[in-house]
Amino acid sequence: MGKHKKPYHKTVFAEAVGEAPVYWECPECGFLSGDPAFLDAEHPCPICGASGGEERRRFPTDRIRRLDARIRAYHADGDGEIVVILVATFLEAILEDILDRIMDAHGADLYMRRMVMDTQRSIGLRIGKVFPTLTGEEFEDAASELGYREFPRRWRTMREARNAFIHDSPFNGARETIDQAMASEAMELLDQAYRLFVLMSNRFVADGAHTG
Ligand SMILES: [Zn+2]
Repeated sequence: MGKHKKPYHKTVFAEAVGEAPVYWECPECGFLSGDPAFLDAEHPCPICGASGGEERRRFPTDRIRRLDARIRAYHADGDGEIVVILVATFLEAILEDILDRIMDAHGADLYMRRMVMDTQRSIGLRIGKVFPTLTGEEFEDAASELGYREFPRRWRTMREARNAFIHDSPFNGARETIDQAMASEAMELLDQAYRLFVLMSNRFVADGAHTG
């Protein structure tokens, strides 16, 4: 009962306007915080109490930050189709990062984590099979419980739009209008994804390592 109930309500979101937010990770338990005070390693982790020692890692990774910057540049240029394609890629990259963290918290070594990612390449299987196997919950239920009930459905629509662009099939109706509407939708999902995945990480990684 309540195994996962304690840490995530303490999550402090990072302020971010026009760029990827910056979170700091506790090297002991994996807890992520956007609280600038947490950058100072002398400030104890609110979950496990660790302080000092190793430097705290940043989330998201530099690879994701670079992708974020490119997406925002294309969005500023009004290139909606590229925005949708890149946001779909971004969401898959950030999901991979979270699954990797959860497996790490379960004690899986690098070889094991790579093998899972290499054999489970489809996004549908990663959401529908890998995530529930690792967390004991459906992705949709976890998102909903964390306050992002619509996120999985909106993400699915985004993937369908991306696939329609890539395979050049019409995505119903006037293309230009849809490009712009989907691009705005994509930018919202981009910003939401950081918060949702930080909450998921704090719930399934920080808690998992702490109690495991
Ligand atoms: Zn900690």
